[in-house]
Amino acid sequence: MLVRGKYALTRAEPGGRSRLLTDAAVVVRDGTIVDAGPYTELRDRHTVDSEIGTGRQFLMPGLINAHHHGFGVTMIQLGVLDCCLEVHVHRLKARRLLEPYTMALYTIMQHVRTGTTTVMLKHGFTAAAKARYEMDETLRAFRDAGMRIAYSMNHMNQCYLVNGSDAEFLASLPGELAAETAEIIKSFVMPYEEYEGICTELAERFPPRPDSLVRVLVSPQNYHWCDEETLGRLKQLATRLGLGIHTNLAETVYQRLYAERRFGDTPTARLYKLGFLGPEVSLAHGTWLTREDMDLVATSGAGVCHNASSNLRLASGIAPVLEMLRHNIPVGICTDSQGINDDEDMYTEMRLVSKLQRPPGIESEPITAEQVLHMATASGAHLTTFGDLIGALEPGRRADMVLLDWDRITHPFVDDEVDPLEVLLYRARGSDVDTTIIDGRVVYHEGRFLTVDAGAVTREVCRQLQGPLTEDRRRRRRLVAQLEPHLKRFYGGWRGETTPYYPYHSAS
Ligand SMILES: [Zn+2]
Repeated sequence: MLVRGKYALTRAEPGGRSRLLTDAAVVVRDGTIVDAGPYTELRDRHTVDSEIGTGRQFLMPGLINAHHHGFGVTMIQLGVLDCCLEVHVHRLKARRLLEPYTMALYTIMQHVRTGTTTVMLKHGFTAAAKARYEMDETLRAFRDAGMRIAYSMNHMNQCYLVNGSDAEFLASLPGELAAETAEIIKSFVMPYEEYEGICTELAERFPPRPDSLVRVLVSPQNYHWCDEETLGRLKQLATRLGLGIHTNLAETVYQRLYAERRFGDTPTARLYKLGFLGPEVSLAHGTWLTREDMDLVATSGAGVCHNASSNLRLASGIAPVLEMLRHNIPVGICTDSQGINDDEDMYTEMRLVSKLQRPPGIESEPITAEQVLHMATASGAHLTTFGDLIGALEPGRRADMVLLDWDRITHPFVDDEVDPLEVLLYRARGSDVDTTIIDGRVVYHEGRFLTVDAGAVTREVCRQLQGPLTEDRRRRRRLVAQLEPHLKRFYGGWRGETTPYYPYHSAS
């Protein structure tokens, strides 16, 4: 197969090291890219069965969404409005539920139609008793649809209710509310041994072969959501099984304050001292990393999965990405199931990242288009542990790529002296994607899904979700509403002095 573009971005690399070819193509054989270069040369050099691309499109590596929870049907669709994360983690327990297979297929559709070919899925089960079923159904959907996935199941064993002692918090609640809350929390508890068993089975089921679309990771929910002994065991487990580690970290100021109040240290410093950080570790969010934290992350070789939309939506803040890049920390881009337009459009997400990282001041140096595109491609490949297999269109890599309608992006006119990478970042949307190819297989082409029955999946989403709320969901919504004032009381007065990286505004 030959895939042709008016432009072909074969590699996005900061510092002017990107490779953008004009009237170029790549040749794919058995899912692997075997050649890339000028279209006419490749056409002469290779005999191909099929040719894709009109020659008027923009060809680039498939995007990598490096942190997600598999909610392609989003929280607001399921009845949950955005709020501060410390409350949100409870609100989402009262969302409407979909069958995991249907949810996963819809999530895949939302990604591939907008040019994302790999998703890092940090899976939270709806109850420990259903964990295996939900995991198997999710992985079955990704296999059936042929989408690339870095899968991990969440693990936590403390701070189910607040960033502190659950027992003390429960004791502070009115009797009936405490009892009902404790009962729901109990359903989320999974013994460590069971979690270890699941990771071990997954590692056996999905060895990291070059032609496998699955990578498995070990996934503590966050520093404060596991005790330190468990974090140590999870690190050992990942090392023994040869798996990467994906965890949330310092997403909100309250997460950082939990460790500071308890140990006089940031959560990142605690993880560093535990020997937990390393090149196989990716940290989702990192919104509240200090400069010292970044030194530790950089020294360890760990990376950060940046969720700009989600951080805004859940009132977590704006992550200091420029500072992370200055520290040479690998950073990826992700929607966290909470894109700014309530979809999975990574082109919009990239644009948001680039607009947020423009500190005021004539001397400030905003993030570059190359940096952002690198984050969403090669850096994402590294963070999802697919490494050099994807993230660029070069011989030897697996063929994950996207064709975008360049005429639409530049309609009716764009000065042709403008760098096409800037045009892409300023103007492209997921809806400009014409074709999505994963592992050499066309999965989406001109509005049609070739591996998913989109009509049937959408009908199934509607069928499962319509109708009145179940009694269980109604009860949970009432409980969460009752819990909220107590959560506000718990965190009241926590916020200490902080020093912003960038002065976005000033009250004095
Ligand atoms: Zn998340």
